[in-house]
Amino acid sequence: MATVRTRIAPSPTGDPHVGTAYIALFNLCFARQHGGEFILRIEDTDQVRSTRESEEQIYQALRWLGIEWNEGPDIGGPHGPYRQSERAPIYKKYAQELVDKGHAFPCFCSSERLDAVRAEQMANKETPRYDGHCMHIEAGEAQRRVAAGESHVIRMKVPTEGVCVVKDMLRGEVEIGWDRMDMQVLMKADGLPTYFLANVVDDHLMGITHVLRGEEWLPSAPKLIKLYEYFGWEQPELCYMPLLRNPDKSKLSKRKNPTCITFYRDMGYLPEALLNYLGRMGWSMPDEREKFSLDEMIEHFDINRVSLGGPIFDLEKLSWLNGQWVRDLSVEDFAKEVQKWAFNTEHLMKIAPHVQGRVENFSQIAPLAGFFFSGQVQTSKEQYAHKKLDEAQVRQTMQFVLWKLEALRQWNKDAITECINLVGAALELKLRDIMPLMFVAISGQASSVSVLDAMEILGPDITRFRLRQALEVLGGVSKKETKEWEKQYSQTLG
Ligand code: GLU
Repeated sequence: MATVRTRIAPSPTGDPHVGTAYIALFNLCFARQHGGEFILRIEDTDQVRSTRESEEQIYQALRWLGIEWNEGPDIGGPHGPYRQSERAPIYKKYAQELVDKGHAFPCFCSSERLDAVRAEQMANKETPRYDGHCMHIEAGEAQRRVAAGESHVIRMKVPTEGVCVVKDMLRGEVEIGWDRMDMQVLMKADGLPTYFLANVVDDHLMGITHVLRGEEWLPSAPKLIKLYEYFGWEQPELCYMPLLRNPDKSKLSKRKNPTCITFYRDMGYLPEALLNYLGRMGWSMPDEREKFSLDEMIEHFDINRVSLGGPIFDLEKLSWLNGQWVRDLSVEDFAKEVQKWAFNTEHLMKIAPHVQGRVENFSQIAPLAGFFFSGQVQTSKEQYAHKKLDEAQVRQTMQFVLWKLEALRQWNKDAITECINLVGAALELKLRDIMPLMFVAISGQASSVSVLDAMEILGPDITRFRLRQALEVLGGVSKKETKEWEKQYSQTLG
């Protein structure tokens, strides 16, 4: 039997998400349990949203958790390159193969035409989909137009009726109607592939035998299955993992829960505990014990023990489990871990320059700089009272700064200052009007060490978390305000 090979294929378009770690963990356990290999591939075909910073953050966050891969862009391997942006010629060749075999066709439709078709379908209460216009162009003519350099995409053909049976390792056979599938674009006008083509080609060429991915991908499974069929390739086994959810059962979102892996690191959670908690998402040990290590999980792993009810990612439960891990450490290890967390020389050297000039003896350090070593700071509504701004304007300013900082990829003092200045310009405020609010939200005090430096040192996760907390202290943002502000924000700052 072929060696079991699994993979994760994150798109480096944002902060390293706990959902990525959760899927990685299950792929890793499945592979290791079968003596197989686990691969990391970067799906960065969305050139606008993908960044190298985000890619780096994914590696760091997964490594912090103790997740290691056998092959990947950063360590190489026999099936590289492992970054899709470096594989363009490969996809081109396979797209052409599909066109030659008559399974795909060039589509020259303008976006105006597609919009008009869509509008008409919507008006007729039909599912909007491509109407097959270019499918009927005679092959020779299509080739001539392509050769003449006419802008086009490549679309796959899909059956118009019947059902596709998706064999899922967890659900058994799932039937999905072909009438729900569009003639998916496989290659974009810029010559880069979409997820569908790149994903299938890479999983095949990289010898992936089992694909464990999030269930949000289940509805599009028929298109992938059809592509394997068109190419005449064996399809890997498919497993659609239940999605992580907020305590209110909605899909896990950063509005309701911090979703960034590094947030948990910076808040002082142990990586073993977070990984253990992710292992408890929809899965349990045969003896139902709650605390277990990665090695123990691998040893007892059984994919059939995954239950389909949406697992809830609950901070309180995670904290409880982390507490178990913390208390089970020897005192020596506890002290070591605390040092590693924030009392290491590297971290202290960032803080020292801002504190040294403000103290006369060391016992004054904790009251001044304690906020560097805490997650949350306690503030009250009154502390945000502002000379110029009314209460709603204060909240709007905080919200705009938060949105701007949520989109910031290069986290340093200059970039943070620039964000606040831009918000100031959009709201006709000066930096010095906004800074008092930042002082309170970040340090819990009206004045402190340089707050812009503090934001850089605290890092994006804790900074954003404190701004979110501040908004909550101020009573939160209503749905109506969110709508209005989003509009205003996208016009001026988006
Ligand atoms: N790039 C996709 C993602 O970001 C990969 C999904 C898959 O595993 O096929 O989730």
